[in-house]
Amino acid sequence: MTLHSSVNYKCSYCGTSFVPMPVLSECPKCSLKSSVVFDNFIEDSVKSSLYNLETRGSFLPPAWGFITIGDRYYWFAFEFLSFVSSSAKIGEKELLNLDISENIAQKLTSKFLNTHDIGGIGLFANALESYLVSLLYSLKDGRIKNKTEVIEKLSDSRDIEGDPNKITYFNLGNAYFLNGDKSSALNEYEILKKLNINLANQLLDLINN
Ligand SMILES: [Zn+2]
Repeated sequence: MTLHSSVNYKCSYCGTSFVPMPVLSECPKCSLKSSVVFDNFIEDSVKSSLYNLETRGSFLPPAWGFITIGDRYYWFAFEFLSFVSSSAKIGEKELLNLDISENIAQKLTSKFLNTHDIGGIGLFANALESYLVSLLYSLKDGRIKNKTEVIEKLSDSRDIEGDPNKITYFNLGNAYFLNGDKSSALNEYEILKKLNINLANQLLDLINN
């Protein structure tokens, strides 16, 4: 057996199926902001991936059915984790011990999205990118246990890389906010505003809601 997702969501304006998550809650087709956000979706994706690994020795299950839109994302998660393992030339189980930087996570995600056929759901590239990067971060212990740790990790990658991806600022702002530090979250918003106004506004929405 496999662990499926119960998440089914359709944009109330254009009817597109997608999964609104904290990292990206806009409809990939019409950009309408979703009224629902599936906070545990990444955590649940990790659980399903780890379940496959435990029971079958691989993130990829021998068979998979697309029951919900969430299952479609899960399938990308399985393929992606398997792809990352082979890119890093390690066994899939070893991936759990690997410390992957934001920069590397980003590169691997782009490579995966470029080399994999996302065909009819090309619109979802941005949503999938945020999803897959977050997935790599959450993999190690099955969920993000310590928000302070996440903040430290994100801050480190921002300082080291010099020119980090806009998602880093978004995630960091969000992590600060979740940790109760609204003023640091707003600082990240100010930086992000100059890089990507759309993402910056999404961050501000999270902070103000
Ligand atoms: Zn829509």
